[in-house]
Amino acid sequence: MAEILVLVDHVDGEVKKVTFELLTLARAHGEAAAVWIGPGYEGAKDKLAEYGAAKVYVAADEELTSYVVAPKAELLAQLVADKSPAAVLVPATGEGKEIAGRLAVKIDSGVLTDVVGLADDFVGEHSIFGGAIVSHAKVSKGTPIVAVRPNSTAPEASPSTPEEEQVSVSLSDAAKGTHVVEKVVQEKGERPELTEAAIVVSGGRGVGGADNFKLIEDLADSLGAAVGASRAATDAGWYPHSFQVGQTGKTVSPQLYVAVGISGAIQHRAGMQTSKTIVAINKDSEAPIFELVDYGVVGDLFQVAPQLTEEIKKR
Ligand code: FAD
Repeated sequence: MAEILVLVDHVDGEVKKVTFELLTLARAHGEAAAVWIGPGYEGAKDKLAEYGAAKVYVAADEELTSYVVAPKAELLAQLVADKSPAAVLVPATGEGKEIAGRLAVKIDSGVLTDVVGLADDFVGEHSIFGGAIVSHAKVSKGTPIVAVRPNSTAPEASPSTPEEEQVSVSLSDAAKGTHVVEKVVQEKGERPELTEAAIVVSGGRGVGGADNFKLIEDLADSLGAAVGASRAATDAGWYPHSFQVGQTGKTVSPQLYVAVGISGAIQHRAGMQTSKTIVAINKDSEAPIFELVDYGVVGDLFQVAPQLTEEIKKR
């Protein structure tokens, strides 16, 4: 079976959920070969095995992460030349997309970005017009490089015993152009990261102001959830843009999504409609979000949300 390279997304050895999604997708089309770049592999190897990596290429040289992005593209280009994989999957994150573009230039191939599904023959599915239409595209020459949107595939465990191979690359001068001076400073609060959380509680325009977001945070904390927001709320400056859910924000697919004071515009749905269970609190029984929900509460969020928080805290 043809190998499919999967670039592991990790921060200091902590593997991001999108990696398990990519491994799941790769397994559906061939043999998943994870590519680990940087230190920390030993602590993470069990996770890659749990999600079915048949092979892991380990490039542990710290130099690869001492420069911004380019070394990762050079390493992947070398692996493509040496191993002739059927495709390369990367996460459609800021870094993943930049690596994909650089890699495509190096191997004279093409990139599909923001893919939400992969059909046979590496035909990428894209969700456009806020999820109303799915378009299909295919790389027409070289090894396809596919940047997959986080949370678009359900990760499925499939334990394996991966073969490991140490790999390295001799970096070009160009790859050493931009030195990392400071590591990513993660905004690490008590709450789970939005795209990784099992439960997300989001607030919208109905919340009515920045201070009122405390209601959303309290409800989220009672559930151990991440906080999200609609674009109306982030554009108004009530909550940071990095928490926006939707077409132009983050895509989430938690076990439980609670939409509070959110109407359910198509652009918001695009970022949360694959959540397993959806609950909405909205005072307008005609709000479009109710077409989508598993459970809906028609009521004033200023009454319903605090009561819900209290009840959950009692349990
Ligand atoms: P509204 O649509 O104004 O809805 C507020 C809701 O709160 C109403 O349903 C109302 O009944 C309810 N409400 C009011 N008061 C209360 C109360 N006291 N108790 C209970 N309910 C109450 N939007 C996104 O969210 N994410 C995106 O990524 C995004 N990308 C976009 C990209 C483009 C190109 C465009 C054109 C738009 C995009 N939008 C996005 C904006 C989107 O179209 C909507 O305008 C936005 O989602 C509306 O946010 P909202 O539901 O919070 O506000």
